[in-house]
Amino acid sequence: MRNQCKELLTMLKKIKNLLLREYQLQVEFRDINSYFLSELNCSDIPESKYEVSLSHLNHEKKLDLKDIEEIFGADEQRAKSIQNSLKRIYYKASCDKAWDDSFIKALKADFVKTFILKNAGTNEHCDFCLSKFDQELPLTVKTLEMFHSNCKCKPYKKSFIEPVIKF
Ligand SMILES: [Zn+2]
Repeated sequence: MRNQCKELLTMLKKIKNLLLREYQLQVEFRDINSYFLSELNCSDIPESKYEVSLSHLNHEKKLDLKDIEEIFGADEQRAKSIQNSLKRIYYKASCDKAWDDSFIKALKADFVKTFILKNAGTNEHCDFCLSKFDQELPLTVKTLEMFHSNCKCKPYKKSFIEPVIKF
């Protein structure tokens, strides 16, 4: 009986690991436009101007101050504020993507199980990141989601992940 229990437990463990592995693999790299869109969604840029903003952010059609005044029907002061919003969106989205990409890359490398969050040399971090520095954290989708919902770093994260590689 005891042996059967043991066998059952081992089997359940194997199933759990398989499911977990499936789940990890579902996390895919997101393209930069999806990051731009998330930022546009919480900015002061009207939805009708997302398309033109995206082509600016993608360096397809760069908007100078005059273009912004014209396209957004804005006076110079408002145009300057839109220009700043676009700049902020650009940096936040690129930094978030770079951070996520390095996390997901490590996640997909089967031999890395944990990582250490490193300070990139400034002290402008949110409380959540500050509480996580220099700790060994599990490299899982759950941890990635935890950063997505708790990190409030402004204007963007200034940390990097250091995968822990054990031989
Ligand atoms: Zn943070």
